[in-house]
Amino acid sequence: MSSPSHYDVAIIGAGMSGLAAGIRLAHFGRRVCIFERHYAPGGLNSFYAIGGRKFDVGLHALTNFVPAGVKGTALGKLLRQLRIEREEFALCPQKQSRIAFGSQGGATLRFTNDFAVLEAEIAARFPGQIDGFHRLTEEVKAHDAMSFAGAAISARAVVRRHLGDRLLEDMLFCPLMYYGSAQEHDVDFTQFAIMFRAVFLEGLARPFEGVRAIIRVLLEKYRAAGGERRMNCGVARIVERGGRAAALLLDNSEEITASHVISSIGAAETQELCRAGSNPVLPETAADWPIVPPAGSGRLTFIESIRVLKMQPRELGWGDDTIVFFNDSERFEYAEPAAQADLRSGVICFPNNFEFGPRELPEGLLRITCLANYDQWAGLPEERYRADKLAWLDASICAARRFLPEVADEALAAGTVATDIFTPRTITRYTGHLRGSIYGAPEKIRDGHTHLQNLYLCGTDQGLLGIIGAMLSGISMANLHILQPEVRGRGPS
Ligand SMILES: Cc1cc2nc3c(=O)[nH]c(=O)nc-3n(C[C@H](O)[C@H](O)[C@H](O)COP(=O)(O)OP(=O)(O)OC[C@H]3O[C@@H](n4cnc5c(N)ncnc54)[C@H](O)[C@@H]3O)c2cc1C
Repeated sequence: MSSPSHYDVAIIGAGMSGLAAGIRLAHFGRRVCIFERHYAPGGLNSFYAIGGRKFDVGLHALTNFVPAGVKGTALGKLLRQLRIEREEFALCPQKQSRIAFGSQGGATLRFTNDFAVLEAEIAARFPGQIDGFHRLTEEVKAHDAMSFAGAAISARAVVRRHLGDRLLEDMLFCPLMYYGSAQEHDVDFTQFAIMFRAVFLEGLARPFEGVRAIIRVLLEKYRAAGGERRMNCGVARIVERGGRAAALLLDNSEEITASHVISSIGAAETQELCRAGSNPVLPETAADWPIVPPAGSGRLTFIESIRVLKMQPRELGWGDDTIVFFNDSERFEYAEPAAQADLRSGVICFPNNFEFGPRELPEGLLRITCLANYDQWAGLPEERYRADKLAWLDASICAARRFLPEVADEALAAGTVATDIFTPRTITRYTGHLRGSIYGAPEKIRDGHTHLQNLYLCGTDQGLLGIIGAMLSGISMANLHILQPEVRGRGPS
């Protein structure tokens, strides 16, 4: 079939996974179109402007950073498959990060992109645990994290086979959960292994310009390969016929068709599109598609507060840390809080503190991420919502300052030029993710299959999380479901 509104592949969503899938398919000559409801690309990792200042939506750091020349890594695979030269992303490595536990951060583990630093810290602070930590590291390295098969295994149970110290266990879980767990309290060992590799064995980096630099490269590659993109053009409904996604009804009532459809918007969100409009009844085969998240899941969401400073954070007295993962409770609790947010733990990020060489970001930036509760924000009347945002902006900086070198209130007030905060409600509004869920449902659909033969998932609910994970997800689903016969035998994938 060939008509102006028929595509080989239609992709729903221009986030990292949708863009990566699009580039891969366009490279292989497919007529592909990405439909995005928002005016800006990037999804959960987009950017926005307030008062002439550009802010990244979420980017703290890209994980999986390795220096040039290291073979067999996720970053290398991604660059190769998207035909991107390393220099195009212009990634600058982190300086140093910390995991700080206790009321004032008394128990601390430093880590950098050199894994030996973390090993030395553990050997010094937890001497009885270092052999177990080495064994755990070997198990992580040996684990086939890209396999689509296999039942979920509790990462806590695996870690406890190697480590007997609960404080160390929690300190290792804190960064890995915050940067990529859709599950509360515990996580599947495969996900743990992916994140352990991404954060500790490999490392953190960031382009000087932030997420815009990544998005710009992806858009250029996509356009150069002939990919089409329709912004401000959401998909309102997936029309099913004969067990297939027969057509996509767009927000503007236009109907388009595609031989294959890849959805990056989430499993439950995609299911909603199948149910919508005149198609309210679940298809008989829906039972085979376990996409309705079990009660109490797919609820993990964040508030993120941002403070813009006149000076570099170091000049204010906050040092050179890139990221600080903090927790002041006896046990680290990664779960949806009952209150609007949970300030007992969180992530502090100083985007200024990457190795940018002689350059410096023009202003200082401090970002603080904490777990939040969607319901507590969703129903608030506008005035109360605004007031609560301001209150949590102040409260989160107070919580974070306990884990940073002391800076006088007056100096901080005088040095602050702007603030912003976004909530789970903001996330839903701009990305369509139900309940502001950042990492989607805890049960992932690793092979991307849905109840419709030609509809596949990529991104968050396929199971690879974060920016690098999302892009790998887009690539692997395009390869698996659409390009498989062609990519086989074309060298390492
Ligand atoms: C606050 C925050 C901080 C983060 N920090 C980091 C970090 O430091 N490092 C990191 O690696 N990761 C980070 N992440 C996670 C990372 O951003 C995501 O895992 C990743 O970007 C997900 O990409 P995706 O393509 O799977 O989904 P999304 O980015 O959600 O893309 C889906 C797209 O689909 C669009 N869409 C939705 N519904 C429709 C529809 N019906 N029709 C058309 N389009 C639609 C949305 O607008 C969106 O653009 C962060 C996320 C947040 C929110």
